[in-house]
Amino acid sequence: MTINGLTKKRHTIPAMYQLGMWRVQYLQKVCCVCRIYPVATISFAKKGAQLEHPFFSYLVCHACHQDLDWLPATYELSLSLLKPEQQAQSVSVFDALTIQSAAPHVNYLRTAIINFKYKEQLSALPILVHALRQLPRPQGCHGGNSVILATPTTEHRLAVRGFEPVAVLAHYLSQHWQIPLWHGVVRIDDAGSQQGLDRHQRQSNMSQAFQVIEKPPCRNLLLFDDVVTTGATLSALALTLLNQYPKTKILAYSLSHGH
Ligand SMILES: [Zn+2]
Repeated sequence: MTINGLTKKRHTIPAMYQLGMWRVQYLQKVCCVCRIYPVATISFAKKGAQLEHPFFSYLVCHACHQDLDWLPATYELSLSLLKPEQQAQSVSVFDALTIQSAAPHVNYLRTAIINFKYKEQLSALPILVHALRQLPRPQGCHGGNSVILATPTTEHRLAVRGFEPVAVLAHYLSQHWQIPLWHGVVRIDDAGSQQGLDRHQRQSNMSQAFQVIEKPPCRNLLLFDDVVTTGATLSALALTLLNQYPKTKILAYSLSHGH
């Protein structure tokens, strides 16, 4: 397959996921997690989270929803400590990256992420979409002044896997927030597995991984990744953007936060 073909594929949600979500959203009346209890009908609104599309059914039951501690405290990552040689360029305008996760990387959310990412299980997607819907739209951000940037995957990994899990999730986040996706950054270097590396090793491994190929269309860039552990990937992405466009305002979001 050509690079063009891959690029097109990268931004397309596989039809089976769209159909699967549609079926669950409109027809299924039992919880996607336990598959026993009916889906909740009361509002899950907590800490400002709202269901943006009230005509959709809920995806999980009340008990399963309560099993996770949604919207844990934000994670602040100091960019100056992570990449000291570029302090002069970025720190004056922006020295920390704030990451908000939907939930900790535990329990059924962890299982669903593994099943979706590595086993391509369709049934895991509604659970992840439910989690994404707990993320409140960033204050002051809307479709006219913000874009969502999902962490890009290398062409190699995309070719092996055939689809990009994080792009599928970003599509549903975009729907939830009513904020468009932006694809202006590519991954230029396969940094390989980050597993087993400490924070500084991960950071130096990541620092050359991204390239901005298009000027950001607006000032607010909302970065999104599926799982955050050390935050090295998101901070490398943020630094790459800030070095070229120091006036952009960057916030980061993830589905889950593991330690
Ligand atoms: Zn349930």
